[in-house]
Amino acid sequence: MGITEKVSGPLVIATGMLGTKMYDVVRVGKNKLIGEIIQLKGERAIIQVYEDTSGLRPGEEVESTGAQLSVELGPGLLGQIYDGIQRPLEILEKKSGAFIAKGIIADPLDKKKKWHFIAEKKKGARVSGGDILGYVQETQMIKHYVMVPFGVEGELKSLQSGNFTLEDVIGKVEMHGKAVDLTMLQRRAVRKAGQFKRKFRAEEPLITGQRVIDTLFPVAKGGTAAIPGPFGSGKTVMQHSLAKYSDSEIVVYVGCGERGNEMTEVLTEFPELLDPRTGRPLVERTVLVANTSNMPVAAREASIYTGITIAEYFRDMGYNVSIMADSTSRWAEAMREMSARLEEMPGEEAYPAYLPKRLAEYYERSGKVESFSGKVGSITIVGAVSPPGGDISEPVSQGTLRVVKTFWALDAALAGAKHFPAINWLNSYSLYITMLNPWYLKNMGEAYIENRTYAMSMLQREAELKDIVQLVGADALPDAERVILVIGGMLREDYLRQSAFDEIDASSSIKKQAIMLSVMTHFARKSQEAVAKGVSVERIAATKVRTDISRMKDIKEKEIDGTEKKFKDEIDKELDALAREQETTQVEEAKA
Ligand code: ADP
Repeated sequence: MGITEKVSGPLVIATGMLGTKMYDVVRVGKNKLIGEIIQLKGERAIIQVYEDTSGLRPGEEVESTGAQLSVELGPGLLGQIYDGIQRPLEILEKKSGAFIAKGIIADPLDKKKKWHFIAEKKKGARVSGGDILGYVQETQMIKHYVMVPFGVEGELKSLQSGNFTLEDVIGKVEMHGKAVDLTMLQRRAVRKAGQFKRKFRAEEPLITGQRVIDTLFPVAKGGTAAIPGPFGSGKTVMQHSLAKYSDSEIVVYVGCGERGNEMTEVLTEFPELLDPRTGRPLVERTVLVANTSNMPVAAREASIYTGITIAEYFRDMGYNVSIMADSTSRWAEAMREMSARLEEMPGEEAYPAYLPKRLAEYYERSGKVESFSGKVGSITIVGAVSPPGGDISEPVSQGTLRVVKTFWALDAALAGAKHFPAINWLNSYSLYITMLNPWYLKNMGEAYIENRTYAMSMLQREAELKDIVQLVGADALPDAERVILVIGGMLREDYLRQSAFDEIDASSSIKKQAIMLSVMTHFARKSQEAVAKGVSVERIAATKVRTDISRMKDIKEKEIDGTEKKFKDEIDKELDALAREQETTQVEEAKA
């Protein structure tokens, strides 16, 4: 038992702490505030406290729990809303009103509820950490696999199906001659990356239903992406779309809001989202970790680890998990505040020198892995960054960009022009493209890859030409260049632009994307040919098929089959007619 010596905001120095370890969770003072040892020198410990320390005085007792900061895992996780150290928000609010009372111990999971467990492993089997014992059908979509906790290993002496609470004994393992009870509940420390058998290379894209992402800047399942979002650029809408439409089964959303209302928005909006695949509430496959502004910074610092550990748990069951952190800048600021109080040597812009390392360690917990259960699952990490003033030269953005492989540059100017999603196609990038090409080749065909490359080059050419147009006007450009402005306009308006609020347009299957892209690039190539034959750009832009193309996004998924040929035939018909007409005129002019 130790004694508090000094209190400085969320940091407490305690003496008499011999026998404790780094990262032990402690209870501080008469209110038994929850804290964690973050520095230990002899019998003096520096403790970061996850609760409001006002009123805490020197001379109060500090008690170590002997356990590391960890999360409770088991059926009942889905649909939960937690704070940074996994205390359920709903329960907290009921117990203490709008404010969180000090030292409250709230169970992260309901210990009274009974779940129907179905045993799959047979008596006599040899089991070890991570092995799947059986499952609970937790929600309509999600089977919650119950795994042997890490550290337990031996012969399965018994295991039964039935209705159990999380703490009921469902079976026994004989380990070193002793019987170890198995329950559906386990704990995992949050600060260390989880274990797995092996990691795979990225080989399959996460299909998000967002055309600009899937076509131009894909992220791999198990990959990493950063999304810098100046205020109003559509960051929240984008995260919702990703949560709703991407083909990951589980979503973990970590909200580190600065202003209280930012988080309130998420907390009220998220539970109302419906899962487009089942029509059921999206929260049935979601876990939310939320920090509101009245929570201490230390809890914000911990929230990222709580979130990723929950993600790893579902990954180990063989699910594709997406974790979104909004925003990691707020997380880094929490780190900076703690570091300043510790009087550590500050690095760039007063962030601790270990900021880049912490960012890297977080993103490294992504990946597609084979877990000890033998199942293959993945964690895709999407981190929002909110650089002050939108300037990404600052340390958090830079530290993030060094480690993530996809960058979706949300752009205030595009948002201002109501071009949504406001992902700037000129400075965004995905380093997964080459790695994923074998997948595209196999599943989408070579033409898709060619069309994508061609579309991107047209968009880049358009941007260059627009700069020139600013100076000299469009009329000064030759037709071969003016047609690129028409093509670029089509790709931007009719392909990249996508309304999150339109029932049909909100998400496009990869098949619909491929068809739209194929039709639009066909129109583009044909237009360039026609211009080379002397057809005027105005006449191309005025064709009926050009107007029809602009409505492709409104075609329902189940009506998309067969449209590719119809559109292409129409393009050929109209543009060939224009070319023939032009030829006749030229012949007649030559005669005259
Ligand atoms: P942020 O979270 O970056 O401050 P929001 O996500 O709240 O910004 O977006 C601001 C507004 O922009 C939304 O209320 C909405 O009107 C519009 N918006 C954002 N994304 C889209 C989209 N994909 N489709 C249509 N409108 C959008």
